[in-house]
Order: sequence, then structure tokens, then C-alpha cells
Amino acid sequence: MAEDVKNATMKKIIIAIDGFSSTGKSTIAKQLAKQLNYIYVDTGAMYRAVTYFAMTNKLIGEDFFYSEQLIERLNEIHISFKFNESLGFAEVYLNGENIEKEIRSLEVSRYVSPVATISEVRQKLVEQQQLMGKDKGIVMDGRDIGTVVFPHAELKIFMTASAETRAQRRYKELLERGHNLSYDEVLENVTTRDRIDSTREDSPLVKADDAIEIDNSDLTIEEQIETLLKLAKSKA
Ligand code: C5P
Repeated sequence: MAEDVKNATMKKIIIAIDGFSSTGKSTIAKQLAKQLNYIYVDTGAMYRAVTYFAMTNKLIGEDFFYSEQLIERLNEIHISFKFNESLGFAEVYLNGENIEKEIRSLEVSRYVSPVATISEVRQKLVEQQQLMGKDKGIVMDGRDIGTVVFPHAELKIFMTASAETRAQRRYKELLERGHNLSYDEVLENVTTRDRIDSTREDSPLVKADDAIEIDNSDLTIEEQIETLLKLAKSKA
């Protein structure tokens, strides 16, 4: 109760969490938002939703990507989030359909980074993300939150961990969700995405000058939350 009163009297801030694929950003961001009573937004889910639209409309596949057609059809894409009480987080919807499970497949993970290089896609999603954060009190994770979406965010975190640690985490998570794949496939996906995300022309994944870097290879979730809560409270 005393904690709630303290939270209520604190100034609301924007917390931007960026970093490489599978650094556990969303797990941490979700819990941090819950403890601070903030909104949590997973921007990766938005790029995945656009990718899922492209896949189901045969605009991207094994050896083709009709990016011009995707750009022309961007106005057909409406992404929203709806809080699921029993799961404790907001699920992503594409044109009213819950696609939370579909967007987590390795297939979507394979095509998402090329889709995320398209400036028109980024412009559309960044606009929506900025609107979601206009009243502050938000934790947003992604690749360009502290650099492009909210360059004035009060707290910026940049998460890292070794590629093997990250692939191992993602592999375990996918197996638990019932996906059938090998560790090598996951490792290859994680490293390929990092390369594309870090080298693209528009909004590449880079650490903002004022971001605090956290290598979480050897940190527990509790340790990370504790550190971030302290940082958030010092900024609020
Ligand atoms: O965070 P997640 O791994 O779900 O993100 C999937 C992909 O979406 C990333 O690999 C990246 O290509 C893209 N992305 C991005 N900018 C963001 C969030 C995600 O380009 N803010």
C-alpha cells in the first residue's frame, strides 16, 4: 500500500528498452511496467504483425519480397493491443484478429528483419508508438526506442548478452510453446536478425549515447528488475 502511494506521487516517465534479439527485453519490460503500474508496449510485436500480414497476403516468402506492394497496402493494416487478464499482458491484434501466437513462429522471425528495413513501415509504426507514449507512464521495448521513437525518454536501457545465451533462451521458449526446431536454426536466426537490424539504413539498432548498457548473460530476472526499478525511481 505504502509502495502504491509512493508510485502514485511519482512523476510518470518514459522507459525505453532497446537491444539485440532475445536479450529478454520483453520479460523485463513487462514486469517492470507491472510494478510501476505503467503501460507496456512490445514494438517487436508490431513489426511481426506487419510481417504476418505480408506472409498471409503472399507478399513475402522463401525467395520473394514484394516490398512495393506491401507499402501500397500499409493502409489496410491496423494493429492494436488488448490486455489479457489471465496472461497478465496485452496481446497483439491485426485487423481485429488475435495473432499473438502466430507472430512468434520461426517463420515470422525469419522475415521480420527485412520487413523492418522498409522506411514506410517504420514511419507508420513509429507514429503509432509515439501516440501510445504521449501521456508517459510507459515501458516500450524494441530496437530504436531510445534513438528514434523517444529520443527524450527519461530512462534508456540497452540490453546485451552473448549470442549463444540469447539463442539458448529463445530455443527453450520456442520448445515450450510447442514449436519443433533445432538450436542451430534459432542461433542462425538470432545472429542474422542482429546483423540486418544493426546495419540497416533507417533507424539501425545502436545504443543511444545516454543509454545505460546492461549485459544480462549472468543476471537473474529478479536482479535485473531490481536494478531497473532503482533506476526508474531515481528518474521519476
Ligand atoms: O523484439 P522482437 O525480436 O520481437 O522484434 C522482431 C524484429 O522486429 C526485430 O528483429 C527487428 O527487425 C524488428 N524491430 C525493429 N524495431 C523495433 C522493434 C523490432 O526494427 N522497435
